[in-house]
Amino acid sequence: MSGRVSRVVVDLDAIRHNVRRLIETSSPARVMVVVKANGYGHGAVRVAEAALEAGAHGLCVALVQEGVELRRAGIEAPILVLSEQPRDQVGELVAHGLIATAYTVAFIDALADEARRRDVVGQEVHLKVDTGMNRVGARPDAVVELGGRVLARSPQLSLGGVFTHLACADDVASPVTADQIRRFDAVIDDLRHAGVDPGWLHLANSAGAIAHSDARRDMVRVGIAMYGIAPDPSMDAMCATLRPALGLVSRVSFVKTVNAGESISYGHRHRFDRTTDVATVPIGYADGVPRRLSAVGGEVLIGGRRRPIVGVVTMDQLMVDMGDDRCAIGDEVVLIGRQGDEVVTANDWGTALGTIGYEIVCALSARLPRDYSGETPSDSQ
Ligand SMILES: *Cc1c(COP(=O)(O)O)cnc(C)c1O
Repeated sequence: MSGRVSRVVVDLDAIRHNVRRLIETSSPARVMVVVKANGYGHGAVRVAEAALEAGAHGLCVALVQEGVELRRAGIEAPILVLSEQPRDQVGELVAHGLIATAYTVAFIDALADEARRRDVVGQEVHLKVDTGMNRVGARPDAVVELGGRVLARSPQLSLGGVFTHLACADDVASPVTADQIRRFDAVIDDLRHAGVDPGWLHLANSAGAIAHSDARRDMVRVGIAMYGIAPDPSMDAMCATLRPALGLVSRVSFVKTVNAGESISYGHRHRFDRTTDVATVPIGYADGVPRRLSAVGGEVLIGGRRRPIVGVVTMDQLMVDMGDDRCAIGDEVVLIGRQGDEVVTANDWGTALGTIGYEIVCALSARLPRDYSGETPSDSQ
């Protein structure tokens, strides 16, 4: 598979640069970088290593397995699992020294029981409070009880922090963020009045860290911005100093002339009104290039120019209209990234497809090899 011409290229220098910028922006809050979903498609271990080199305090993941992958790669930094996990994962979570998120008494007890079984003292727990996202988390009025429960299960457990997740931070003018912050602060007041030290406070995702200074408390949890992608295109200007880390590249595999009146690809949905050269590129929807990208104006870069994808994207290949320009088998194709003066971003695809850059990079499948540039001398062998 490593011989494949279609590949994801990740610039680790861009990751380091972005982490340093986010540390400056968020200071004095510490920066935890989010590497769930294989580092948003960039490769969790390599991104995590680069981010830690650049000064990130720790890592966040969605699943115990994601944390275990990082530990198996030798990473010893703090790793926070962002939600409660299935009961059969708790043993692994504790065994690998991952930081747990909890929002129910039952899960706190399961953690404490597991820690006791394994002679672990001080298993770190962060309480997650739902201040409006309505995904997971404790109701604000339940948090004092949960804090008390963690303390009651000392010394097996220790309360390391309390956090919440912002639902609308990428819509900078939305009043929801201030409302969530107010609810969070009320919960923290309640905890302190009850004599519970809440530990580290954190609310901000990338958009919160960049656009909402009052959401930066002791720590921020940045994902998308570390990859150099704005949380929303409306935040592009605020993210101008960040560098996209991911490129999606391939090479022309076949070229032919198609006559006026002929049609192309499944369903013959595109018909040529003039004779033109068409390049075939060996990448398709099984790699994460959406089938309907051509229907929404999707373009790739060949020879330093934007070229329209024509016909539906197939599972393994797509076709590009070269117009009057020539290209040859082996010519470089950039699907996401820069070529000459032109650039196509993950958010360009997202906007065209009615989604966000997050979904585009996360969908790049395991069939695509990941190549890394900007390696430190010690790991470039
Ligand atoms: C995914 C996630 C983040 C990171 O969000 P970005 O918008 O990518 O910065 C932060 N916190 C939680 C709880 C998450 O699930």
